[in-house]
Amino acid sequence: STEPQLPQLDASSVQCTYTSSPRTVPAVGSPEMASQKVCSDHMIQAQWTSTTGWAAPTLQPYGPLSLAPTASCLHYATECFEGMKLYRGHDGKLRLFRPNLNCNRMLMSTNRIALPGFDPAELLKLVVKLCATDGAKWLPKDRPGHFLYIRPTMIATDPALGVERPKEALLFVILCCFAPMGNMSSGIKLLASQDDMCRAWPGGFGYAKVGANYGPSLVAQGEARKLGYHQILWLFGNEGTITEAGASNFFVVWRNKESGRLELVTAGLEEKIVLDGVTRRSLLELARGKLTTGHEGLEELDVVERSFTIFDIVDAAKEGRLVEAFAAGTAWFVAPISQIHFKGEDIEVPMVKGQIGAYADVLRNWLKGIMWGSDGMEGHEWGYVV
Ligand code: PMP
Repeated sequence: STEPQLPQLDASSVQCTYTSSPRTVPAVGSPEMASQKVCSDHMIQAQWTSTTGWAAPTLQPYGPLSLAPTASCLHYATECFEGMKLYRGHDGKLRLFRPNLNCNRMLMSTNRIALPGFDPAELLKLVVKLCATDGAKWLPKDRPGHFLYIRPTMIATDPALGVERPKEALLFVILCCFAPMGNMSSGIKLLASQDDMCRAWPGGFGYAKVGANYGPSLVAQGEARKLGYHQILWLFGNEGTITEAGASNFFVVWRNKESGRLELVTAGLEEKIVLDGVTRRSLLELARGKLTTGHEGLEELDVVERSFTIFDIVDAAKEGRLVEAFAAGTAWFVAPISQIHFKGEDIEVPMVKGQIGAYADVLRNWLKGIMWGSDGMEGHEWGYVV
């Protein structure tokens, strides 16, 4: 065909307007820092239309958006996003963690909801540009171990109210202040989802990071919090297939009933009801590389991605084969799970000294070293120095 090529997303054409009213960085421990409402001085924006393609991106002062009340995203959930972090290392450097994977996943999510495509490498350059602009001020050197949360987002801004493929969209990237992570050492308590609350299903969109997956999960999450649990363990179908824990992937270490061997198990991706988490993927790769042949006195284990159910966990717990369970994701990092409530019964997950299991601990420390540049992991290829 002779269709003209529309302009692509191009980070090299970014136009910068710096703020004339710089904002104050919240003090450590302040309510502002914990509020998750305070963003850095600048943001990235890029406009797209179906007839003109991608306009030159801008780096501009952070501020509110202006949208038509008829904008597609306000009505039809034509929105997707990413969640990643900028880490202030113990060696003073600013790092991203495997940011290319987030940018690839963003493209996958846009494809699922009819938002425009782009070269993920260009998105990465824009993320880096924003981090390089605001990182030094908003993540000062005297805050090693802290991070800023990076939220790349795309919305359909199309002002036509008809239910159809959007012809206008906006990509934006913001940096939001977060309090440093607590250590969750007493463990996360999970409430298994009830039959009337399902997060994802085959043929749906649970594998994509679209806003439509999150709003409808908040009723169940609210109930869980009210009952004293931290998160929902999302089950699917009559078999009680395990999918994810809150907005994290779920891992269990148990002894296989037949083989008697230790296994690190997490749900597979083939059914498309689980998000392809960057943390998940990284833990699997680290475990396959370092734990399958035994490590510093830890018994070797098999690393398995497959479908498993809540009843498998109930059985393993009853038979003394359950060793550890943990949640893994950018937000909660690697967080030990102490208890799962399912249909009136509590499944207690054994943990070393009421803290974190030995396998979760070693995996968490490897990731920590890569993200915050410590423990001999500072040069690891997954750390992207800004
Ligand atoms: N599952 C869901 C539903 C999520 O929203 C997230 C957070 N992105 C994860 C898992 C963990 O993914 P990641 O390790 O990439 O943060």
